[in-house]
Amino acid sequence: MVTMDKLVSLCKRRGFIFPSSEIYGGFQSTYDYGPLGTLLKNNIKAQWWKAVVQQRDDMEPLDASILMHPRVWEASGHVAVFNDPLVDCKECKARFRADHLWCLTATHRDESKQYAVEAGEEDEALSKGRELHQIGKRWEVSAAPMVIDAAEGTPQVCPKCGAAGSFTEPRAFNMMFQTQVGPVEGSIAYLRPETAQGIFVNYDNVLTTMRRKLPFGIAQVGKAFRNEIVTGNFTFRTREFEQMEIEYFCWPEQSAEKHQEWIDARIAWYTRLGIARENLDLYEHPDHKRSHYSTRTVDILYRFPIGFAELEGIANRTDFDLSQHAEFSGKTLDYFDTKTERRVVPHVVEPSAGVDRNVLAFLTEAYTEEEYTDQKGGKATRTLLRLHPTLAPIKAAVLPLAGNREDLVATARALAAELREDFSVQYDDTGAIGKLYRRQDEIGTLYCITVDHQTIDDDGKVTIRDRDTMQQVRLAKDEVAGWLRDRVR
Ligand code: ATP
Repeated sequence: MVTMDKLVSLCKRRGFIFPSSEIYGGFQSTYDYGPLGTLLKNNIKAQWWKAVVQQRDDMEPLDASILMHPRVWEASGHVAVFNDPLVDCKECKARFRADHLWCLTATHRDESKQYAVEAGEEDEALSKGRELHQIGKRWEVSAAPMVIDAAEGTPQVCPKCGAAGSFTEPRAFNMMFQTQVGPVEGSIAYLRPETAQGIFVNYDNVLTTMRRKLPFGIAQVGKAFRNEIVTGNFTFRTREFEQMEIEYFCWPEQSAEKHQEWIDARIAWYTRLGIARENLDLYEHPDHKRSHYSTRTVDILYRFPIGFAELEGIANRTDFDLSQHAEFSGKTLDYFDTKTERRVVPHVVEPSAGVDRNVLAFLTEAYTEEEYTDQKGGKATRTLLRLHPTLAPIKAAVLPLAGNREDLVATARALAAELREDFSVQYDDTGAIGKLYRRQDEIGTLYCITVDHQTIDDDGKVTIRDRDTMQQVRLAKDEVAGWLRDRVR
């Protein structure tokens, strides 16, 4: 399993992801996607659009604005309840989400100790505790939510510095970023904390202009902003991120079935694009964790280097959002079926995925270090990204084998230009072939195409090397584009 450090280092070294504002020392867990990261991210989004809109007849795309009427966020509940309980350690000043602090009790024969860890879920807290105490030594570890209130008598130990009894009282912290609109002070707006509300407020526009009938859905990709108390784990949790969201509107009695269909469809999408099923897990939200209006919420978890964590959430949100917006805007947001004369506020299923977490998941899954036998029969190792053909940022690299021969270079450049009509292609003549192969493997390039003396002087064929098998085939130069088209779909 790849570590986060290895991923971060590859991303930086090979131009996938850079710390933002790096020349100023970086800025608070913000990241910039470099040339290859941009291509990978765009490919992921393109595959999502293709699967959730193009290949279905019940979906419409949308691109709503980031700034919206402030009342939207009152209706959605974000002004009132988009709060996390925040506590600070008075000693080391570390800041925590109180609901992410766990008190662990480790018991070993007649000895027992308590300490605190930071983790999002109980399972995660327990596995951290077991790691600390190594199961082999027969420590029994149990986890309970950390009670910050001293009256409860639970030890309030800071997981960072170990200071006891040093937390501030938890206080509600609204995670929406506020900004001012225009020159008039006091006219505030929020940077959207999710893209979903842009869909709800356009429900009626899309319904009527596209002459839709229930069930139908609207899909959107865009930036969202949350002033998270604690960021970290590379791009897993940042304050600015991108979401791919769907609101699927249906009859109330259809919603449970549609919810399950979307869970299945989204899992199938991830596995089709190369994520192993055993690296995905489902987390069924228990009653006490679910929003009061949701009848069922299921998270798709991925085995990130930090352990299983949320990649996408799929909620059955009933008629909550449309009813709220109808009430707050005074506009009717229901659906009338002329045939049956039935009027309802549609129920909504919401599959909501993070683009950045998708990038991280696909990189984690693709990262491979393997031993192979080199041309001289010796053992060598290489790092490669086994990305799905549709996701690989670069589909082919054209590599001339004798960079000093003008006619050979011209042929290689012409081939690269021809392939660029349809694919992202790199041309590279800056090193020995072994080094060029390793560089391309590391960024997941599907095929390396070498142009050599034989191509020019003899058969007009080039050698194509497969990233995963390292096997080579020789093919007429003119057939390469068609050959590639058959394989990159
Ligand atoms: P978490 O529990 O991890 O904070 P959430 O349940 O609040 O996530 P949702 O509101 O369901 O997340 O958002 C949908 C998706 O958006 C998540 O599954 C995740 O992929 C992504 N996402 C949410 N918050 C962040 C963030 N701070 N950084 C990166 N991606 C995020």
